Amino acid sequence: MMGSERAKAVEAESTTQWVARVLGLTLPEPPAKVGRAKAERCWLCGGATHGMGWPQHAAIAPTFTQHNTAAVSDSDAVCRSCVALTRAETFQAMVRARGLGLKTWTQCGWHSYSHLVLEDGRYDAPVPSRMRDFLLTPPAGRWLLAINTTGKKHTIFRGRVASAADFFPVQVDEESLWIAGGDFAACLAGFERLTALGCGKDGIETGRYHPADTMRAGLRRWREAEEAFAPWRERQPGLVGLVRIVARSAKAMEELGLAEAPEPPPNRLTTPQPQPAQGSLL
Ligand SMILES: [Zn+2]
Repeated sequence: MMGSERAKAVEAESTTQWVARVLGLTLPEPPAKVGRAKAERCWLCGGATHGMGWPQHAAIAPTFTQHNTAAVSDSDAVCRSCVALTRAETFQAMVRARGLGLKTWTQCGWHSYSHLVLEDGRYDAPVPSRMRDFLLTPPAGRWLLAINTTGKKHTIFRGRVASAADFFPVQVDEESLWIAGGDFAACLAGFERLTALGCGKDGIETGRYHPADTMRAGLRRWREAEEAFAPWRERQPGLVGLVRIVARSAKAMEELGLAEAPEPPPNRLTTPQPQPAQGSLL
């Protein structure tokens, strides 16, 4: 790599550095006794350290187990943004300072919630209904949505910052999905057509429905909706997984008054009955 190219690569701002900057986080300095690491790129995010990185052994707590997320495995430095975003106290301080009203506990940190970060500095730990509405009409500008389905893992380090409303990344646990906005809306509509019929999310995601769901929906209506949705499972299983997280459940559809009424049982009285033939001897 040429010198100038290398300098450019090192200057690039990583996702964690972008998050720490737009949220205005205080970046912790390494204690004087441990000094600074020399490496130019951060072990965890790959961004520039500007010579102010922490030595890895001092930066990363033994409780941090996601070593497989490291971007530069042979670096001995961790940038200050990554240090901020591995620490529970940084998260809890932000929750308090912004009056976010989130539940916190001793170990509660960045690995405990999903994150929605906008470039103007707004932050939300979004619930699925908020993610759903956000992804249907994402804003112009840059943003990060990192979804945490277990409440136990860091998602920001591997996340990607979105910069377009029609094709954007969404982090779901350790997987980065790239999604066309139109696909999201269409897949969601197909999924929710089935929840409106009363189908459970497991069945819609896997295609293995509970028989009671299909009976309630009415076989004809269910089959139409299922045949329309089935191609998403083949073509974009990652998108289906995301949609499953954010879609309205059958129960939510009922509460919102959007559920379809159960299909009435076939009315046998309207079925023409065979009539005895004229002139029958019977
Ligand atoms: Zn870093």
